[in-house]
Amino acid sequence: MKGKKIESRAMPLFCPKCKKVMKKRLDKKMWPIHNMCFDCVIHMETELRRNGKFKEYEQKKIEENMKSYLKDTKQKAKEYLEALNQVEFLQNSMGDIEKWDVDLSQIKDIREKYNEHLDQVQKLIDTMGNNKGEE
Ligand SMILES: [Zn+2]
Repeated sequence: MKGKKIESRAMPLFCPKCKKVMKKRLDKKMWPIHNMCFDCVIHMETELRRNGKFKEYEQKKIEENMKSYLKDTKQKAKEYLEALNQVEFLQNSMGDIEKWDVDLSQIKDIREKYNEHLDQVQKLIDTMGNNKGEE
């Protein structure tokens, strides 16, 4: 399901920008964020600073990170809700067996909170998309 995304994030042997071998610890750290080696990141950020575009760039990076974090959160919340649905379904169909610790009203509560949370996350994602304007 999510295999492709992980694949594209794996670090290649050579930096796509400068074609040098990426093997430093800092390269590994920079790769998932910038998709280039550490030297290239430093070089790019120096350029951006010189052009006065660093703030803009930084902001964009933060937004991108936020966005992917929010998408992750959304996915997890969805999975959690599905799990809750199953618990509820099982509990309903099996009646009140003593080993069930979960209180149904509690589940309803949690689900409502999660749904609210999901809504907020979605709204945030939408706002970000609208603010961006161009790629
Ligand atoms: Zn490089």
